[in-house]
Amino acid sequence: MALPRPLARLVEELTRLPGIGPKTAQRLAFHIVDQPEERVSALAAALVEAREQIRTCSVCCNLTDVDPCRLCTDPQRDGSLVCVVEGPRDVVALERTREYRGRYHVLHGAISPLDGIGPGDLRLKELLDRIRSGEVQEVILATDPDPEGEATAMYLGRLLKPLAVRVTRVARGMPVGGSLEYMDEVTLAKAMEGRREVS
Ligand SMILES: [Zn+2]
Repeated sequence: MALPRPLARLVEELTRLPGIGPKTAQRLAFHIVDQPEERVSALAAALVEAREQIRTCSVCCNLTDVDPCRLCTDPQRDGSLVCVVEGPRDVVALERTREYRGRYHVLHGAISPLDGIGPGDLRLKELLDRIRSGEVQEVILATDPDPEGEATAMYLGRLLKPLAVRVTRVARGMPVGGSLEYMDEVTLAKAMEGRREVS
């Protein structure tokens, strides 16, 4: 059965979302057109608003609606500690542990030669600027414990070596091949606690 054009278009747009296959897209589309108009308007407005108002923080590159972000301006947080992560979702995961009280730096990726992602694709300039400004005393490398995350940590270790800053890597206790974002709070807090200086 051919879907009415607007419905087909909605299915097509939904299919572009990660993890949404054609069947799920169709189920969502039928659900959406079955909703009261004001519900759908609210959903559409939330989509547009989030996209319009969310940007990256000019200091830490995390996603934010104010610049600098709240994590960067929170006076309760220790500005001498910067935890480097691959993505904004890793910040959410680490914040869930409620243990870490330093600041963050979000790379927006990890080095992956197979995918053609090199150091030039990561948000490194902002990190170097922060370190050179002198407030940072320790950089914690909290990239994922998978090959890309390890390669990124190694690269950063070498890059930061000449700078007057302590560089540590979160503990190996993290399950190898995992992603920070999916780790439980206890594992993450332990990995952070057991961090070691990168030689
Ligand atoms: Zn920030």
